[in-house]
Formats: sequence, structure tokens, C-alpha cells
Amino acid sequence: MKLLYLGTAAAEGWPAPFCHCENCRTARIKKGKNLRSRPQVLINDDLLMDYGPDTFSHSLQYDLELDRVKTVLLTHSHSDHFHPLDLILRSEPYAFGQDKEAMHLFGNEKCHQMYQELLVHPEAPEHLAADVHFTAVQAFHSFDSGGYHILPLKAVHDPRENCLLYAVSDACGKTIFYGNDTGAICPETWDAIRSLHFHLVSLDCTMGTASACEGHLNLEACFQIREKMLQEGCADSSTVFIVTHFSHGCCPLYDELSALASAGGFLTAYDGMTVAV
Ligand SMILES: [Zn+2]
Ligand SMILES: [Zn+2]
Ligand SMILES: [Zn+2]
Repeated sequence: MKLLYLGTAAAEGWPAPFCHCENCRTARIKKGKNLRSRPQVLINDDLLMDYGPDTFSHSLQYDLELDRVKTVLLTHSHSDHFHPLDLILRSEPYAFGQDKEAMHLFGNEKCHQMYQELLVHPEAPEHLAADVHFTAVQAFHSFDSGGYHILPLKAVHDPRENCLLYAVSDACGKTIFYGNDTGAICPETWDAIRSLHFHLVSLDCTMGTASACEGHLNLEACFQIREKMLQEGCADSSTVFIVTHFSHGCCPLYDELSALASAGGFLTAYDGMTVAV
């Protein structure tokens, strides 16, 4: 399974467009791995984790043919993870000659409601519902799509909606844990993943070196989850652990962050990072 981290920032990106904090000012000067767009990961060219406002710029930056994407897994409705209006680009007259097999979105009830509102939006093309399908899913009810076996899991993030994490397995038997946005992993999710074995674990690290909060993890909390996964047997010494979704307000720049994360057994994601497991 191949993962391409398209975007690795928290909600406002890094540098945040209107921000003059030291982390944003330094990122503008140093550039490189310090420039982070809104969170999104592409798996094997045909599965997208989230469909945020930077999807179009990711397609430019990484030469993506997005009509190859058949499955989109939405974690929740926050603006950095779901920007439904851009889905109109999947249909004529905004796209021609695209793969006619529909793109299939899966997400919670809130995202489903936003999709239904999109279908009646004045800019929505006539054939949008045929080109972009949506199925509302619930935590702990698994399903298959595009050759993947997918288990939605319960996140601890925004009590106003049922935020989801995902365990995704491909046809080769590789399984990943996609863990953002979330705070500490809840007991029900631990119960559901205990019997799985992850080849890669990707975790929310919005809070970085600051205190963890209810809806997001920091480095220390990520280290504790890694230890518990190793103890529980759902990960082992070959499992790749990655932190992502960083806030300019709570995390140091890439070099310092990556040294701290590495000491705890984690890779630090950056925009454009590829990992194969
Ligand atoms: Zn987020
Ligand atoms: Zn800033
Ligand atoms: Zn969020």
C-alpha cells in the first residue's frame, strides 16, 4: 500500500494566510517541509482520505488524475476535511473524458447532509448524483469499496457530529489506521482495533509540544498510543508510525518537530511525503 501525504497542516494551513506568529513568519522564509496545506492523503492512486479545500491545488502540485479515485473516506465535516462544492468539478461541463465509473464518498450523517445540499446547489451539474455517490456510514459497521475493506471507528473530536477514524485494508492484506482528527482513542475504538494488525498508523498531532486537548492529540499522547498498540498487539516493531495535522500555534517547525517525533518512534509527515508498506 502506498500513501502520499498531500496535506499535513491543521485547519488553517501553515503558514496560516493571515498569521504573523513566529512559526508562520519562519515557515515563509524557510519554505520546504515547513509549508503545509490542509490535510489529505492519497492511497494507491484510487482512495482519498478526506476532500478538503486544497484538493484542487494538490492535483496540480502532485500531477494527480483524480478521476482514478473511486473511494473517498471523509473523517468529518470540518472545513479542512470536507469542501463539498468542489465536487461539482467531477461532472460535465467542468470535466470531459473523465472515467465514467462514479467516485464514491463515505462519511457521517453531517457530511451526507452537506452532499444532499450540494445536489440542489445552483452550480451543481445535472449528472452530479450519477458521478459522485454518497453513502452515510457509522462507526464499527465495516464495508467494502474499490477493493478495500474499510472499518470506520469512533473519533473523540467534535460532539456535534459523529467524527470517524478509519482502518483500511487492501487486497494484499496491508492494513492502516488513519487517526485524525481525534483526541485520546476511546474504549470502543480500542475494543474494535485490538484484534487487527496495523502496518502503518497515522495520528493527529495538532497540539505538538503544547498540552493535549479533548479533540486533538499532542506528541506525548501519540507516544502513549504507540506504546499501547505495541502492548495490545495491533502493532509491532515493523509498524510505521506517523504524526500529521500540525498547528502553527502548537508545533515547532519541521526540523525540531521531526527530531522530537523520531525519538518517540514516529515519522513526521510533510506535504509530498510518500510511504509504502
Ligand atoms: Zn482537521
Ligand atoms: Zn501562525
Ligand atoms: Zn476537525
